[in-house]
Amino acid sequence: MLICAATGNAGKLKEIRRILEAQGHTVKSQKELGIVLEPDETGTTFAENALIKAKEICQASGLPTLADDSGLMVDALNGAPGVYSARYCGRHGDDEANNDKLLAELAEVPQEKRTAKFVSAVCLYLPSGKQVTYLGECPGFITFERKGDKGFGYDPLFVPEYVGLEQGGVAQNTQHRTYAELEAFEKDAISHRGKAMALLDEHLAEFLQQAGEQ
Ligand code: IMP
Repeated sequence: MLICAATGNAGKLKEIRRILEAQGHTVKSQKELGIVLEPDETGTTFAENALIKAKEICQASGLPTLADDSGLMVDALNGAPGVYSARYCGRHGDDEANNDKLLAELAEVPQEKRTAKFVSAVCLYLPSGKQVTYLGECPGFITFERKGDKGFGYDPLFVPEYVGLEQGGVAQNTQHRTYAELEAFEKDAISHRGKAMALLDEHLAEFLQQAGEQ
């Protein structure tokens, strides 16, 4: 299926593309389709924001459109930065400043209280107006300093509980590697986004059939 990816975030786009392409789909980013819209993320939940973005970009692209709204929820910060993850430091998309702020906020928080989870809501919106949303979560903890140079966003500060294995399956992340130290297959198998998109893939044929698209 040809799917428009509703994001301007290069790190996210790379992951959405590789996950959807591995599932056999063809991906065009909104930029590749010449769509420069940046929908206002006015929702208070990941699912609301994913729907807002998928709907607006679908109406502009005329293609089945997938949006991910995601973020980091830190227990010691009562779930912050949450839906505000992209703009935690006050500016949208400044990953370095967001990471600095997170480390500063957690400076006095001991290891055992640095638990957190990443959450992703992915919404697939069809030109007919039919839509479906799935959620994925990845538990872990926040480090005291950046580690690794792969990925994007808070990747250098987040240690997931598990990592994916090349031959399939998952293993405990005993070496406490951050998302930014993982290979693509190690992250996609256990990540919040990977899990939400695996659920979408699992239910896609049934959804399209019910939506009268197959
Ligand atoms: P939004 O979904 O566009 O509102 O932005 C989500 C923000 O959450 C991103 O800008 C990142 O800061 C963060 N984020 C979401 N997913 C990931 C991830 O897989 N790794 C690191 N940061 C992420």
